[in-house]
Amino acid sequence: MIYLDNAATTRMKPEVRAAMEPFLDREFGNASSLHAAGRRARRALEDARETVAACLGAQPQEIIFTAGATESNALAILGAAEALRAQDAHAITSEIEHPSVLEAVARLESQGWRVTRVPVDGEGLVDPALVAKALTPQTALITVMSLNNEVGSVQPLAAIRKIAPGIILHTDAAQSVGRIPVGVRGLDLLTFSAHKMHGPKGVGGLWVRKGTPLAAQLRGGGQEFEKRAGTENVAGIVGLAAAMKLACAGQAADSARMELQRERLRRGLEDLGGVRVSGPRERRSSHILNIAFEGVDGEAAILSLDAAGVCVSSGSACASLSRQPSHVLRAMGVPADVSRGSLRFSLSSLTTDEDIDAALECVPAVIRRLRKISAVER
Ligand code: PMP
Repeated sequence: MIYLDNAATTRMKPEVRAAMEPFLDREFGNASSLHAAGRRARRALEDARETVAACLGAQPQEIIFTAGATESNALAILGAAEALRAQDAHAITSEIEHPSVLEAVARLESQGWRVTRVPVDGEGLVDPALVAKALTPQTALITVMSLNNEVGSVQPLAAIRKIAPGIILHTDAAQSVGRIPVGVRGLDLLTFSAHKMHGPKGVGGLWVRKGTPLAAQLRGGGQEFEKRAGTENVAGIVGLAAAMKLACAGQAADSARMELQRERLRRGLEDLGGVRVSGPRERRSSHILNIAFEGVDGEAAILSLDAAGVCVSSGSACASLSRQPSHVLRAMGVPADVSRGSLRFSLSSLTTDEDIDAALECVPAVIRRLRKISAVER
């Protein structure tokens, strides 16, 4: 299998699995228990918190573990809004957020908030001037993703912070760790997820700057500084920390290698002719190549490539369940017929040069065949 769908999820690294192993059977204590088994689980949990905090340049008490980026986004957005108890409040987001952010923001709207969804340019980038224009005296929350999961655009968060000092700024950085340098400077809330960085699925976290208002959305046992109740997923959290440590340490070298692989893939696929690459030239991650093939239906291409052993995706895996044209490409002004023919190839630190060679053997042949079939059908 040639796996080029790493924006959807990544393979767990052996080191991560090894770190988790003891907590999957013998070390099964509840981190809240007072006995020795519980204390060992607590130690592992707090070590993991320190590791994660160090990777992000944050304090351990600012890390809340969750069941992944979807939950972290909901906690950040709904939790901050609830804690602010603001009247006539206003939030700003972008048109190209992950559905878990768009849905949370829609819920704010149903609670009486006003929301501005700032558009993006043709490269998938938010213009900070449009955020400035959207600001009102009621603006209490801004949520703009760090790295877009469909086209790889890297948003200008530092510039957004500059024009909106003092307003709670959240970013969904689920795609960022290990792909671009990630830090919490200038932010108030930051979402991350283990399975995008070669960790296990169903575990992630939210970094919360000390003092940021945040109301728990899951209440009960008081875990995670009373911000997220529920017995901690110790094995998952240990895996998350191991994965994050590797991802952060390897980020510069990994992204330099992925850049070369991505560019080789892009050039090879552009040789086919009738292709269009979506995404920025500069402010972008090296792990995503979003490319549309004229005269080809993206879904048909995915299935044909799958039959040939190549895993890719159209837009995002989550959106493909709904079979809607990508809201990200639409926001970028990509025409619907181009969007329908678009595929997302996404790389990881485990992608090899041989994977790219194999993709360059297989993908052009599949695209040529599909174009021939659609020409005959027409
Ligand atoms: N945000 C972004 C940008 C993502 O790419 C994803 C995963 N598709 C999520 C949030 C959701 O992450 P999780 O699967 O950990 O809930």
